Amino acid sequence: MGSPVYFGSAHQTRLEASETLPAKLDLILDRLHLRDRVKDETVVIKMHTGNNLNYSTIPPVFVRKVVQAVKDGGGKPFVADVTWDVEGAELRGYSPEIIGCPVYPAGGPQDKYFYAHERPFKNIREWKVAGLIEDASFLVNFAHVKGHPSCGFGGAIKNLALGCMVGETRGAMHDTCHFDRYWFSEKCPDPAVRKQVAESCPHLALVEDKERPGELHLHLEQCNQCGRCLRVAPAGSLRIDPVNFHAFQEACAISTAITLSTFAPGKTVHLSLATNMTPVCDCFGFTTLAILPDVGLLGSDDILALEKSTLDLTADLRLIEENLPTSLEIHDRRGHPFQQLHGPLKDPHKVLEYGEALGLGSRAYDLDDVMPVESIARSPVKYISAR
Ligand code: SF4
Repeated sequence: MGSPVYFGSAHQTRLEASETLPAKLDLILDRLHLRDRVKDETVVIKMHTGNNLNYSTIPPVFVRKVVQAVKDGGGKPFVADVTWDVEGAELRGYSPEIIGCPVYPAGGPQDKYFYAHERPFKNIREWKVAGLIEDASFLVNFAHVKGHPSCGFGGAIKNLALGCMVGETRGAMHDTCHFDRYWFSEKCPDPAVRKQVAESCPHLALVEDKERPGELHLHLEQCNQCGRCLRVAPAGSLRIDPVNFHAFQEACAISTAITLSTFAPGKTVHLSLATNMTPVCDCFGFTTLAILPDVGLLGSDDILALEKSTLDLTADLRLIEENLPTSLEIHDRRGHPFQQLHGPLKDPHKVLEYGEALGLGSRAYDLDDVMPVESIARSPVKYISAR
């Protein structure tokens, strides 16, 4: 038996408000017994408030419902996000007047309020959990599902992994991809050849390293592992290697484990809204067209079960290629749609493997649809053709 995951489909049977996603959110919160669990708790609702012109983050109507449920249960809610996203959050509809609670920068206005946790991993020694996250006694992790250029997929784990650390640690987590060498300059001493290698990348992922002249720097976010550069690079000079790509996902699992360890057992709930799923994460400061059909809303106490069920529900969807920005390219159609978009080494399941090894939860789940879509009998009388 797996962990329960409560699911509200974006599809509905009738044209009724009671069958839409905000109404299904109430049902999911009921099944999670959120109101019964938050009395006298300081509840942080960790969500991504977007950036600049982003309009695909969680609509305020959903956030307000979670805030109200916490208040109904006697808890004290606040929304928290990283400092640079909270600046201007009210422009995207996240203000106390609209959502019903304050919106705070998780690491304080200067992003300098944190608790350090020592846990060596590649270039990282200390992980700095944002102060307001660790000070809270109950966590509602409310994620928006979308693609991510570093790991293919951004959902509940990424919402905590990056969003609960201060900027210094977020930057260090991205740098884990560069810890293991991928450019071996001794095998390519000729600057003209090095330039050719860099110029072979159509996605501008290979550049001269500003800090180490003579070295190439790989922007892994832009790299879809098409392999063109490997055809130009002298033998042994360049590696497009899983170790670099998977480092970020392992860092995300570790970061999430550290954040969750600051809450007592039973004091965390995870929600994922899988609508308006765009190619890249909400920090980019804009919204592009959705590239997958809307799926719905999921909730669970088990972050891994939630993430696995989200991946499974999106696994067989058609990538809406006509909605892709023309700068993006699909060269490999194997795997999850987000993996097809960002490249085979950005396997969104990888972080779940690391997470399970760290005891974050279970990938086994039981999906409970809170309002299954019904098939409608068109007429009680025998079949009559439409024309
Ligand atoms: S594998 Fe493709 S996308 Fe990645 S750096 Fe090489 S050419 Fe660029």
